Amino acid sequence: MLDEYKNAKRLVIKIGSALLIKDGAINRARLVGLAQDIDAARKEGREIIVVSSGALALGCARLGLGRSSLSLEQSQAAAATGQIALVQGWQEALGAYDIDAAQILLTFDNTEEWQGYLNARGTLQSLIKMGVVPIINENDTVATQELRYGDNDRLAARVANMISAECLVLLSDVDGLYTKSPKTNPDEAEHIARVENITDDILAMGGESDSTFGSGGMITKLAAAKIATEAGCHMILTSGRTTNPLAALEAGKERRNTIFVAKGTPAISRAVHSNWVAGRLTAARALTAAESVTIARGATTHTIASGAEKALRRG
Ligand code: GLU
Repeated sequence: MLDEYKNAKRLVIKIGSALLIKDGAINRARLVGLAQDIDAARKEGREIIVVSSGALALGCARLGLGRSSLSLEQSQAAAATGQIALVQGWQEALGAYDIDAAQILLTFDNTEEWQGYLNARGTLQSLIKMGVVPIINENDTVATQELRYGDNDRLAARVANMISAECLVLLSDVDGLYTKSPKTNPDEAEHIARVENITDDILAMGGESDSTFGSGGMITKLAAAKIATEAGCHMILTSGRTTNPLAALEAGKERRNTIFVAKGTPAISRAVHSNWVAGRLTAARALTAAESVTIARGATTHTIASGAEKALRRG
């Protein structure tokens, strides 16, 4: 087992739409498998926080809408419709193990503005203390085109910083970082098992998203890795295509993953304010300047990774 995973008491697990939603419905087998993993991890004394996508995909299916032609209002309506089904699915799956779930919908402001950050952090800490599993998503219904994450990879990294998690696990349709895209360059792509420093060479390995509903791609995963590791949280990128992905990490099976190693520990940056500053998206921290686009909002300047920005503008 990866030591970084083994030693983590507080874990944030992020699962994307491409894994959780199949043919317009929740992939029950996958959700049930994950709930089983969460139960097992909690019985070992770990605290689990979930960041789950899927609202938009579910909502579009229910309302018979095609993703590509949606206006902002339509996608917000679809996300609102899908979110209720998404949390219901989580509640049922965790309820089977007698685990209470809570829905948390966050906006960009809730993580990037000081008062919002404190409020969200306080609620999450209380839920964790009460033994409830928070199921977090972006509040797509009220998010504006200009100011939102659009991808749950970076949102999950910010949440991990917010609650001083020791490890963030991104369940993905790929089993880690490759030097080139394994889909388009299967012969040349080399897997990278461990990243100690997110250098420009590593960032250059990011690509575009190729899933229909997920907004992420390797580019937002690398941005998430940077946010998490700089605030003392390890990030593991692993395949969620197996039914029990956490059990597989636990067992240390011969599977490929990529671990992005934290700089320091969350304890060092546990001071609330420094943790907030450490991961804040206002600095061009995720990608190189050439790859980032600056969105000015009044006196405040927010910088969003270009890949995510393109994803925001899609549809
Ligand atoms: N919040 C979006 C949803 O629930 C997903 C964002 C993402 O793809 O990461 O559909």
